[in-house]
Amino acid sequence: SSYRIHSLHECLQKVVYLTGPKVSDLGLRLVYVDNKSDMKVRIDMSKMVQVFVNILNNALESMAGIGSGTVTLRLSQEGPRVVVEVQDTGEGIRAQDMKQIFNPFFTTKVEGTGLGLPICKKIVQDHGGEIEVSSSPGLGTTFSVSLPAVSD
Ligand code: ADP
Ligand code: MG
Repeated sequence: SSYRIHSLHECLQKVVYLTGPKVSDLGLRLVYVDNKSDMKVRIDMSKMVQVFVNILNNALESMAGIGSGTVTLRLSQEGPRVVVEVQDTGEGIRAQDMKQIFNPFFTTKVEGTGLGLPICKKIVQDHGGEIEVSSSPGLGTTFSVSLPAVSD
């Protein structure tokens, strides 16, 4: 794999470009809030794109049943880390499911693989980062990915 220094904004632009058509097809909204476009990170670009595409696909699937909703992608800085939040207004995650969602093959979907989040977690950890989740059933879910910032 190839780790290089990029702005995370560059990564998220690719993600928005790849996900945009699906968002419109489903009649949903995608909002990108960039508070820190200049922050650099050391990433394997295609793997990090895969992380956010996976998280976004889950967000879209959580709202598809409702038929409307917004997913907000928010880029910011917290001390020495760059943080990306992916917030949806979907069905949320039940409390009893929360501790299992990163387990391989755990899925609540008829045709789910249960492999998206464990792969995301592995990739993020390989980058020295962390992935966290908070959710309110009926209101929505926020995934937060933080990565060490590289100063240049
Ligand atoms: P899959 O999408 O194939 O089910 P994942 O590993 O991507 O597998 O996700 C595991 C489970 O976590 C999902 O089946 C779902 O129950 C839950 N989940 C993940 N993201 C969300 C989200 N944004 N909203 C609601 N549930 C979610
Ligand atoms: Mg998934």
